[in-house]
Amino acid sequence: MPTDPVPGLLAGATEALEAEFGSLPAFDPAPESAASPQEMATILAATARRLGDNYPYFHPLYAGQMLKPPHPIARAAYALAMTINPNNHARDGGRASSAMEIEAVAEIARMFGWADIFLGHLTSSGTFANLEALWVAGQLAPGRRVVGSAQAHYTHQRISAVLKLDYCPIPTDTRGRIDLDALEAELREGDVGTVVVTLGTTAIGAVDPLDQILALRQRYGFRIHVDAAYGGYFHLIPEALDEPARRAYAAISHADSIVVDPHKHGLQPYGCGCVLFRDPAVGRFYKHDSPYTYFTSKELHLGEISLECSRAGAAAVALWATQQLLPLTPGGTFARGLARGRAAALELDRRLRQDKYARFQPLAAGPPELDIVVWQLNTDTPERASEMAQKIFVACAADDLHLALVQLPQSWFRPACAGGDASRHVTCLRSVLMKPEHEAWLDRIWVTLTAACAKVEEG
Ligand SMILES: *Cc1c(COP(=O)(O)O)cnc(C)c1O
Repeated sequence: MPTDPVPGLLAGATEALEAEFGSLPAFDPAPESAASPQEMATILAATARRLGDNYPYFHPLYAGQMLKPPHPIARAAYALAMTINPNNHARDGGRASSAMEIEAVAEIARMFGWADIFLGHLTSSGTFANLEALWVAGQLAPGRRVVGSAQAHYTHQRISAVLKLDYCPIPTDTRGRIDLDALEAELREGDVGTVVVTLGTTAIGAVDPLDQILALRQRYGFRIHVDAAYGGYFHLIPEALDEPARRAYAAISHADSIVVDPHKHGLQPYGCGCVLFRDPAVGRFYKHDSPYTYFTSKELHLGEISLECSRAGAAAVALWATQQLLPLTPGGTFARGLARGRAAALELDRRLRQDKYARFQPLAAGPPELDIVVWQLNTDTPERASEMAQKIFVACAADDLHLALVQLPQSWFRPACAGGDASRHVTCLRSVLMKPEHEAWLDRIWVTLTAACAKVEEG
């Protein structure tokens, strides 16, 4: 197990924190608040057994979905904050953690090139962050449509329905990026208020051509919301990206709003999304009166600029501490970790393409844009390819390698599969190689995958 914070580290910090409140009189907990250590130990042991019923997300052989263990400093800071359990709705509930949130969010904004003038805060998730961005977009352009690629996160359509905005999915190219001609055809209709641009789609890590969408904005006028919940931090490693993705990331500061999830690539425990607006004046939409909060300070309370009320102050504390240790700077340790996962993805893709038995069919359009690899099985029919993917997925898991499955259009893999119909979907294998350790474990991943293939082929 990799991530137990340095023994004693947390105890030392907890003692220091308790000393901060040393002037308070000591008190005995009521019997209802106390519990015998033995009883708690027994229950925790049972809890540990229950938690064993999980995939080992922390291990490099977990290479399936978007799951990355929080950094030890994030875990320790979060646990330390539990002594206080602050609420970042108002300074009344979390003075220090509100200040830490403002600092941590400013560093994320700086990473995207927004220095002083912006508005932003943490949210409980990427979905809620996207909801806030589309809510603001809807206030600014009531009655106008929201469009995003067919590979945009599935929640955009649902969020739009909640906000009573019409949403229209736009087809993609065979790399999973929004099709610019199809987008322009919608723009010509004249009623598009917002375009959702995804930098790093959830299924395959595709990067929409933000730079070219900016050119369309000049012509047609609309709001650009960048959903970089997954891919936002790749802004730190342009040198590791291919040219089209690099150009898209280079344009990010021209977006009207950006969402990034520190709880995906940012080494944070769940409960940490982030939304940023380029124009701080959108804060006016959040204006509300609350008779029972906001009385201890004239400074900004985060609840005055967010749709959620109570939020975990501990999430801000963990993020702040992590960014102290691992600043969001190009070439820094954090950026190097991202680059390792990206290198692992390129290497897996290369091996899939060069497999001497030609068992695999990676994306026809070329290597992955970020650190997510998808591939089909090379068989005579799509039905057989789907069935093989299922079986290999199970065989790998039996050998401790955890991959994921994804349904993707057949046409992305080979233009005309024998007996295949271009519009149909096929079950593919998918691997998100988002841990720095994945690079060193790639040989083991490859050996396990190919052994599983051989086993499945033997039947
Ligand atoms: C994960 C993801 C989301 C949703 O974020 P949650 O934090 O899971 O709510 C939205 N958009 C993209 C591109 C994502 O990858």
